[in-house]
Amino acid sequence: MKITRLTLWQADLPLTKPYFLSGGRLKFERLDSTFVRIDTDEGLSGWGEACPWGHTYLPAHGPGVRAGIETLAPSLLGLDPRRLGLVERAMDLCLPGHLYAKAPLDMACWDIAGQAAGLPIADMLGGRHPDPTPIASSISTDTPEGMLANIQSYRALGYRVHSVKVGADTEEDIRRIRHLEAHRLPEERILYDVNRAWTRREAVIVMNAVAGLGITVEQPCETLDDLAAIRALTSCPISVDERLETLRDMTRIARDGLAEVVNIKLNRVGGLTKAARIRDLALAHGFQCYVMATGGSALADTEAAHLAQSIPPEARLGTWSCQEMLARDVLPGSGARNRGGHLDAPTAPGLGAAPDPALLGAPVATYGT
Ligand code: MG
Repeated sequence: MKITRLTLWQADLPLTKPYFLSGGRLKFERLDSTFVRIDTDEGLSGWGEACPWGHTYLPAHGPGVRAGIETLAPSLLGLDPRRLGLVERAMDLCLPGHLYAKAPLDMACWDIAGQAAGLPIADMLGGRHPDPTPIASSISTDTPEGMLANIQSYRALGYRVHSVKVGADTEEDIRRIRHLEAHRLPEERILYDVNRAWTRREAVIVMNAVAGLGITVEQPCETLDDLAAIRALTSCPISVDERLETLRDMTRIARDGLAEVVNIKLNRVGGLTKAARIRDLALAHGFQCYVMATGGSALADTEAAHLAQSIPPEARLGTWSCQEMLARDVLPGSGARNRGGHLDAPTAPGLGAAPDPALLGAPVATYGT
């Protein structure tokens, strides 16, 4: 089987309401998503999506995805998409780094490989655990009362896991955390996500003030060196998100004991092939994991649902369903969807999800024949 053509679409995915990231630093109202379909000479096609969470969150942006794919496409034409390690190597030799541009191509190849094998991707990744994955809401920074009201609106949809964005004034953050913990349901889990917004001093002040509440804080400071420094001064469990990009990062996080939880974002780490190795290393060292897209439609959520469901339930803390924050659905009725606050990976071969090309409009680029 050979890759014969790559077709690209760009789609604006408007949010249902403006989003403020931790500390109110970032506000945006739409996502710039890129969809790619890879066609083969045997009639199988696979879909991928890359959708950065705005362009100020990570070093990634929509035009960069499309420019990266333009550079990578010639290295993929003629390859067998089922030989995922060879596809990965071809992309890494063609364009070092730029993981977020490689991720949708890797995703489309996994989709084809699964269809060819007659297996859903979760089974290709080692096997599906039957329990669906709890979805974490994404609660943007607000007053303590406003954030609780937002959590309550997600509760009504069945959510029991919440990723709450903090990372502003330390006194206000302590108030937010205490207020939400005081109103947390017994079966609920809240992850306090700082998105790198605290200085080391601010992190130590807040984390020590609330350490007795048993909470977990995600990416409190910018770098892994920062995490190593505050580890010595706080007892609060830590989750690493933005600074987990490569297998080498995961190795350091495990070796130096920098965290207890990792958040594997598929687009950031370069797709399923690389993410599966990070998963294995994390599980070998007793980490618990969140697995999610960086953003995007139900297609990106479906990819994350497959990887998440390959992780045993005791190590799997949650995923995300960005699709529910969007005012536009380009694959109605297809892919992993919220069922009582959980995502269940499709059982059809491959991704088990595909956008409706008619809803994507005209392609922006085609490579190959
Ligand atoms: Mg995070």
